[in-house]
Amino acid sequence: MPVTRFAPSPTGYLHLGHAWSALFAREAAGDGTFLLRIEDIDPVRCKPEFTQSIFEDLRWLGLDWPEPVRIQSQHMNDYGAALDKLRKRGLLYPCFCTRREIEQNAQGAGQAPHADDAAFIYPGTCRSLSAQERAAKLAQGAANWRLDIAAAQKIIGPLFWHDAVRGKIEARPQMFGDVVLARKDVAASYHLSVTVDDHLQGITLVTRGEDLFDSTHVHRLLQALLGYETPAYHHHPLLKGADGRRFAKRDQSVTLRALRAQGFTPEEVREQIYLNR
Ligand code: GLU
Repeated sequence: MPVTRFAPSPTGYLHLGHAWSALFAREAAGDGTFLLRIEDIDPVRCKPEFTQSIFEDLRWLGLDWPEPVRIQSQHMNDYGAALDKLRKRGLLYPCFCTRREIEQNAQGAGQAPHADDAAFIYPGTCRSLSAQERAAKLAQGAANWRLDIAAAQKIIGPLFWHDAVRGKIEARPQMFGDVVLARKDVAASYHLSVTVDDHLQGITLVTRGEDLFDSTHVHRLLQALLGYETPAYHHHPLLKGADGRRFAKRDQSVTLRALRAQGFTPEEVREQIYLNR
């Protein structure tokens, strides 16, 4: 029996695109289990009132899920334990570079921003610091912790996963460079917390929008390093509005709240989603 999840971040009100993703996960679970998880590790961007609105809006839409809901900010110890495991294997290193330094180094090396998130791939500057240099810099303040992707791949070898739409995929986590797994200000990254939670919650089928497809390359490597099973994946197309653009947080008119306030029923909202998908 599949175990699926919908894992929104409470950074705004849910819109039609979220509703589609939640319904997709519910449907993919079939007679199995559909879980809701709140991904609120970033205390600046996430707000408790948005968490409350997620519960209300999804219930209004007709969804339900087993309690208790996993709220990521209440489980930082689990992510810390995973980080320790990686650190003990020598696969993490502290990075002291500012965003500006990373940009300048990457541009100096002729790099254009990475297409997906307009971020530069980290050129690995802090990877080669000596133990003394690291200790001295750590004594002065906190660091971001990066995964040494090349070292990790060397230990693990080739990896694959299965996507319901695109089939067998070879993991290429190196496309992101040495990703940050713990930030100075947030003790776990999206990549880390999502991988740990999918494992701890026994998720067997990860469904999410295809905008997150590439992240799975990193998640697959983390699973191998942490000794986790790999779920199946189904990255679904993003719902688009009448103008052909995907829905985003800026589209206040299509939040579930706004639609409800305009008098739409849950059935009508579901119908609108199924017509647009
Ligand atoms: N929390 C992520 C988001 O809202 C989704 C995580 C996932 O489904 O893996 O974009």
